[in-house]
Amino acid sequence: MKYILIIGDGMADLPLKELGSKTPLQVADHPNMDFIASHGSCGRLITLPQELDIGTDVAIMSILGYDPKKFHTGRGPLEAASIGVKLNENDIAFRCNLITERNGILADYSAGHISTEEAKELLKSIKDAFEEPKRIEFFLGVSFRHLLVLKGNKYSNKIICTPPHDALNKPISEILPKERDESGTKTARTLRKMIIESKDILSDHPVNRIRVRKGNNPANMIWPWGHGTKPKFENFYNLYGIKGAVISAVDIVKGIGVFAGFDVIKVPGATGYHDTNYEGKAYYALECLKDHDFVLVHVEAPDEAGHLGDYKLKIKTIEDLDKRLIGRILKDLKGDYTIAILSDHITSTELRTHSKEPVPFAIFSTSQRKTSKVSRFDEFSVRDGSLGLIEGIKFMSLFLKYDELNN
Ligand SMILES: [Zn+2]
Repeated sequence: MKYILIIGDGMADLPLKELGSKTPLQVADHPNMDFIASHGSCGRLITLPQELDIGTDVAIMSILGYDPKKFHTGRGPLEAASIGVKLNENDIAFRCNLITERNGILADYSAGHISTEEAKELLKSIKDAFEEPKRIEFFLGVSFRHLLVLKGNKYSNKIICTPPHDALNKPISEILPKERDESGTKTARTLRKMIIESKDILSDHPVNRIRVRKGNNPANMIWPWGHGTKPKFENFYNLYGIKGAVISAVDIVKGIGVFAGFDVIKVPGATGYHDTNYEGKAYYALECLKDHDFVLVHVEAPDEAGHLGDYKLKIKTIEDLDKRLIGRILKDLKGDYTIAILSDHITSTELRTHSKEPVPFAIFSTSQRKTSKVSRFDEFSVRDGSLGLIEGIKFMSLFLKYDELNN
């Protein structure tokens, strides 16, 4: 038996008035998802525990059976794993954005989506100024997304950092890192000092002078956030006895895969956007199933469309995911398999952000072909499904045993 788990990121939504109080999933044409729902079993999943962030990393940990309340430490370590940075026991990894500060205000969390080439120059100056062997290290990522690692037992993760995309137009002085308790005082102070001094280093940098001249936002400050220590995941193979792989364009999803012990499959042209290589993802998923038992195929595009507030684009990404990816897998996969389709969390296109309501899922197995009461895959139809409302962390064992279940 082969297992394919397809996650349309943020694909589920809340009803939109532009769509006559329907969701993009309700309106989109997706015959392959409907096939899975109507010949399999459906339900809804609670992927986001109340007390945690409403992020993709938390949701996907839940779906893979890793209780995020236990294993989620922050997105920094996941991004570190994704770019091959190994963390030691006491290291604290931060996502480090390049941002735009203007008149004391956080004006742009992405510094105008600065290019990696420009970022590389700026990060070099940051490294020259702040790096200390075995204590402080920066790593180049992509565009405005980079990595900071504080090493050794001198630092504490008992600090509060603010995600910059949630703090647009806020005064920098109000959102600087703070200590969560006394043990974090020194770490918070180190971070604040680097953030404030980075302004002096970056403001007059030749790269930023050119950006300003061209009318682009300068990347004139660093912004560390999303910190965490190395999560202690049990290897997926040890838990379930099957060999897994992950296909995703998104660092935090690949990072979860690394900690779970998956092979990370690189697909040319996978962008994390609506122009992603859907056919390529299907092809590589089928190829990797030749020597793996399980593959997680993650498609970021619907979430991005939701954050843009573009419901037409979201409908298109759902239709592309259905026809260009799922359709190909269903058509070309030979032998026995179990396939599931789900959304990791809801992304409200109206509110342009994630939301905590349960998400729809459907599972189909070649060994359990049935006629379900549910004929369509969407947030509301699946409420009639036989699997009901399930806690996220119970999903993986249900999915992997689905072919043996008598439901
Ligand atoms: Zn997501």
